[in-house]
Amino acid sequence: MRGRALIIVAAALSACEGPLEVFEGEHVVVRAEPGFDLCGGTMAHMDEFVARLAAEMQQAPPTGDERIEFRWYPGEHWALLPCRRSAFGCARGDEVFSVLMPHNHELVHALASERSRRALPFFAEGLAEGYQGLHWQADGLTELPLGQAKRVQDELGGGPAELGLASVGFVRLLVQQHGMAKFLALYSLLSRRSSVTDVDEALRTVLGVSLDESIAAFEALPADCIRPQLDPKLLECSAPALEWDDSRLAVFRMLDCSQDDAVGPYDGDHLQVLHTLTVREPGTFELRAIAERPDEAVSLNAVVMTPCSGCGGGPPIRVLARERARADLAAGRYSLRWMGPAAVPTTLGFLLERVDASEPGGP
Ligand SMILES: [Zn+2]
Repeated sequence: MRGRALIIVAAALSACEGPLEVFEGEHVVVRAEPGFDLCGGTMAHMDEFVARLAAEMQQAPPTGDERIEFRWYPGEHWALLPCRRSAFGCARGDEVFSVLMPHNHELVHALASERSRRALPFFAEGLAEGYQGLHWQADGLTELPLGQAKRVQDELGGGPAELGLASVGFVRLLVQQHGMAKFLALYSLLSRRSSVTDVDEALRTVLGVSLDESIAAFEALPADCIRPQLDPKLLECSAPALEWDDSRLAVFRMLDCSQDDAVGPYDGDHLQVLHTLTVREPGTFELRAIAERPDEAVSLNAVVMTPCSGCGGGPPIRVLARERARADLAAGRYSLRWMGPAAVPTTLGFLLERVDASEPGGP
């Protein structure tokens, strides 16, 4: 039964503010608080995210009347939504409520609700946190290494607010070792009432391994692995590729919320544009981000380069506007994201240049 919460919210809002803004996508319908608009590439971004995640989860993406209903209330009406006040969003079944746009974490919950609406929080949050993609803020990169994750057993019994990196690492491990189909069978079987003993029994039945064996495998993962490496980066690593000669890339571009490839405005202030880049020969590179104007807006301008490989692939490299960095890059594909403010257009240049590692350099 869907829609009861939505009807209550819509009635409360329309009584005081007039009609909601409606944005229709193939897999998502956004109903927004009046006066708010999506950046030009946001609906395509959400549709593609849902399609790719549904394929990963071996289920059909929702279409027509089954599309995910996304209530976006970034303004004063947030209190009308059925989420915890301190949260940025929540999902109730296949309905999403959020102050952020887009909010891929909640889209994961909405899709997973097809498997269970009462999933064990450890698995529900591990799946959502583990597949939501890279953080949309350049400075949202401080990540604990997996070695500092709390013990799985402690977290299995915790509520969503307490769950962290251990749930992400454990879910990704189960998916990688046993496949998504078996993980989702486990997901459907366990509920928020399940005990640690129930989890052990379900693991033995569905996967043929005990909880202790799975925890031992989890603890054997590289201790320095961080969330951006665990995440499959479904969109970030399938974004349009930039062509280059493997030696020097120089791109200047406008970042404007109305552009077709701009995704945002997230919390109202941020947008990002997604690309990929392949390094064919490993080497040392200098990275520079070049801002056009020395004003306030450029403080949000940055370029972030993240290896598409998993654990052991190196951390994201962030270059803020007017900064430079030097990095040793392995061969392989990278996610290259351009970040800027959503409220005003900016121009951001990015220069990536192969250098002689023996020459002095650095910031
Ligand atoms: Zn969540």
